[in-house]
Amino acid sequence: MFRINTDLHTHTVASGHAYCTVNEMARGAFNKGIKLLAITDHGPNMPGGPNVYHFGNFSIVPDKLYGVRIVKGVEANILKDGRLDLTDEELGYLEFVSAGIHRLTEHKLNNKSDYTEATIKAMENPHLDMITHPVQREYPIDLERVAIAAGKNNVILELNASSYNPNKFKTRGIKSESLKLLKLAKKYGFKLAVNSDAHFYDIIGEYSTLNFIFESPDFDSELIINSKAENIINYLDQRQKRLNKLKKTV
Ligand SMILES: [Zn+2]
Ligand SMILES: [Zn+2]
Repeated sequence: MFRINTDLHTHTVASGHAYCTVNEMARGAFNKGIKLLAITDHGPNMPGGPNVYHFGNFSIVPDKLYGVRIVKGVEANILKDGRLDLTDEELGYLEFVSAGIHRLTEHKLNNKSDYTEATIKAMENPHLDMITHPVQREYPIDLERVAIAAGKNNVILELNASSYNPNKFKTRGIKSESLKLLKLAKKYGFKLAVNSDAHFYDIIGEYSTLNFIFESPDFDSELIINSKAENIINYLDQRQKRLNKLKKTV
């Protein structure tokens, strides 16, 4: 069976609608054999979400808890024209930046064309690493155009396990669209990440709702960037070097 020992998308109490602390999440990850856990609380436009101080102070959390590498990240909100709800300076405090479109965040996006354009524009931000749940019923996008932009800007697109959780109030995923991402990743040369979007510790690393992806004839484990912790450690190292270089040139 294909094993993934990282999780790049999880939330803590700081998000306002998740239920564990960083410490509880780290211990939960350890108990599940997860070696690297990104904490990606929502950006400040989410009602009840953390303010900018949360992100500016994040570096005080140790890099390792219970032997698990804790990556300090964010799931920012994509707003009109592809703006994010943290400035580039604030994003610069973080090790991993993901972003997605969310309800109740005053995004002022109204239709498929808006969602698509904003997502593509957000991907041009040099800090951005990953688009979360690019496939969601409520915010349909032109997947092919987003895929082209992902290839061009080296942005990861997510396969979000929580989108197919049958216990959730409503399922937001569309299986045929998520499956399409496998073909598009090969065609346009971007990576995918398999993440839980856990809002509670025992959901960390739970990917079985994505079995339809793993069992697809188009599935190729090489497409999944976060299957091994070493790959992500290497990725984080490269991204930091790239951003440092960029800082020097401006
Ligand atoms: Zn999200
Ligand atoms: Zn999330």
